[in-house]
Amino acid sequence: MTELNAPFLAIDLGAIADNYLLLKKQVGANCAVAGVVKTNAYGLGVQEVAQTLEKFECPQYFVATLDEALTLRSCIPNTPVAVLGAVIKGAEKEYFNHNITPILNSLRDIETWRASASTRNQKLEAIIHFDIGMNRLGLSTDESDILLDDLTLLEGLNITTIMSHFACADEKDHPLTEQQAHKFANIAMLFPRAYKSLANSSGIFRDRSFHYDMVRPGYALYGGNPTPETSNPMRPVVTLEAPVLQTRHVKKGQSVGYGTTHIFEQDTQTATIALGYGDGFLRSGSSKANVYYEGTACPVLGRVSMDLITIDIGHLEQRPQTGDKVEILGHHQSIDDLAHTMDTIGYEILTSLGTRYKRVYRRMDETVIS
Ligand SMILES: *Cc1c(COP(=O)(O)O)cnc(C)c1O
Repeated sequence: MTELNAPFLAIDLGAIADNYLLLKKQVGANCAVAGVVKTNAYGLGVQEVAQTLEKFECPQYFVATLDEALTLRSCIPNTPVAVLGAVIKGAEKEYFNHNITPILNSLRDIETWRASASTRNQKLEAIIHFDIGMNRLGLSTDESDILLDDLTLLEGLNITTIMSHFACADEKDHPLTEQQAHKFANIAMLFPRAYKSLANSSGIFRDRSFHYDMVRPGYALYGGNPTPETSNPMRPVVTLEAPVLQTRHVKKGQSVGYGTTHIFEQDTQTATIALGYGDGFLRSGSSKANVYYEGTACPVLGRVSMDLITIDIGHLEQRPQTGDKVEILGHHQSIDDLAHTMDTIGYEILTSLGTRYKRVYRRMDETVIS
């Protein structure tokens, strides 16, 4: 019986495959398309996602932490995996033993990995991340200057790739993007033999010159819109539905939910839906977000609770009954749409998707596995 009462999340692996192919087409044959599968593939399931990308010979994965890399290694034994943000010191053996590539984000990382190479008497592969304006992760400008003045600091290492990251590529024509690209181009000249990688999902769609040898999409693979100013070129990947638990008539002047934040201005009918912030329906959607019943928007009334939301169904001609499903994400509402009403970005919507859903994967051949 639990299944009837639980929200239902469907993840379309065929759409992820199509999105991967679309990105490959977008960058052309001379540029590799890596898969960014950090945070459990943006909440969608790293194993299922990576196994899908493997079918198209995805050449490289990026994850955020060493633990994520080890998880990925347990299902993807051979394809290169690189860790975006981890402290290498103390974990060198793990990288080495599991054939995981560290991304060197500081001179200290470089020293650590060189020491490891020297101990093993072997050239070790690494990727270097240059911070070119985000001031977040990667070699700072000062550290970059030191390194670029003295590339012997990299002796003992085989730098396969150099990379940087855009801060504002999702905003069309943001001036920082050009500045960052210019900085990256200057650094790139000093590494003629390494692969270069700059663009995330949005960067891919901004300018061909950002593609270099490898692009690093995450969000676009999962159906997010990399070009928010215009229509989404990607196929949507997630569908989220939740059942109606109860419906009731309410009177003008009554309130709904915690804190009585919504007072009814007229008599209406409401439905209580089995999904709340514990499932990733963010509390910022209180009195703002919509869900859809048979294609019609139904506003969320009052506060989002942990396990429940209440919606207005008074305006519907055909009203849902207990057990009927409403759409949270799907044909009528994309992750970007829902994010917009929740004052956030679709990335947070995806990575917040809860764990108590019944999750179903639609495979490329349309068979359904749960
Ligand atoms: C997360 C991340 C990406 C992927 O970004 P999207 O916007 O999801 O495509 C690429 N590169 C780095 C360094 C990242 O941290």
